[in-house]
Amino acid sequence: AKRRGNNNYEWFSDAINEKLEHHVMMRHELHTAVTNDEFFLEYQPIYRTNGQVVGAEVLIRWRHPTRGIIPPGEFITLAETTGQIIAVGRWVLEQVCRDIPRLKALGMERVGLNLSPIQLNRQGFFEELLEMTRQYKVLPECIVIELTENVLVSELSNAVQTLEELHDAGFKIALDDFGTGYSSLRYLQTLPIDIIKIDRTFVHASGPSHPYEPIARAMLALAHELGVDAVGEGVETQEHLTFLREHRCGFAQGFYLCRPKLLSVLEQEFSSIA
Ligand code: C2E
Ligand code: CA
Ligand code: CA
Ligand code: CA
Repeated sequence: AKRRGNNNYEWFSDAINEKLEHHVMMRHELHTAVTNDEFFLEYQPIYRTNGQVVGAEVLIRWRHPTRGIIPPGEFITLAETTGQIIAVGRWVLEQVCRDIPRLKALGMERVGLNLSPIQLNRQGFFEELLEMTRQYKVLPECIVIELTENVLVSELSNAVQTLEELHDAGFKIALDDFGTGYSSLRYLQTLPIDIIKIDRTFVHASGPSHPYEPIARAMLALAHELGVDAVGEGVETQEHLTFLREHRCGFAQGFYLCRPKLLSVLEQEFSSIA
């Protein structure tokens, strides 16, 4: 019971207890989720800014038995702290490898896979990924490893070596949420980056009066200069798309183009268009 007012301290410690209990419960539930197959994947198509579909990003969701569908933002961080991200990440990878032939049939030649730093820094990750792709006869070029800049701050040297191995093997590397982290420019120079994903903060910056507009334009010019592909994230309006196109951003992703959906739903929608 929360007794607000005359005893703030008690209220505060109750709140902490509740948070702790929630944490312990979620941790346990995450464990069951892995064994009970409660996760599922959605794919969000990625397009050329001229309209053609070229790929997709895979996004995990948790179908909780009582609490409904839980988005990744509410459990990935916890799974990282408990180490459960390893099992979850393996499940995602295997499922993606199975889905790749179906995605290709829809014109989605590449799949963006979000990786946690824990996965990337784990001994044997590269070998495991290679083994999995071989088993399913998936070409490394079909997989785009999406990393956030913050991911790379810790244990940088280890991550750099793994990224180089991955890149040499043919996997594509994307810097996710570009512009929101720090040292981004240094990463562009030291890491084997193929793609930058411009964070939606900058995609939404269109319009000459917007304070970020010059930065957004400079980011796209930089991508062009360095010869890396740019994907604008979070495209929600025609205006956002036009802005990207006008500033030579090759690729776009967002609700305006297509929401993340089950593969079976994408198959229905894409075949009814064709
Ligand atoms: P992210 O990698 O930046 O993924 C894009 C997020 O933006 C997704 O949220 C997507 O649903 C959302 N989004 C797409 N288009 C739009 C738009 O037009 N407007 C807005 N406002 N949002 C849009 P979601 O699915 O909730 O995922 C959140 C984050 O969870 C992802 O951010 C990613 O960092 C992480 N995540 C998702 N799946 C995985 C996974 O399998 N493994 C790991 N380690 N992280 C994952
Ligand atoms: Ca991503
Ligand atoms: Ca992103
Ligand atoms: Ca993000």
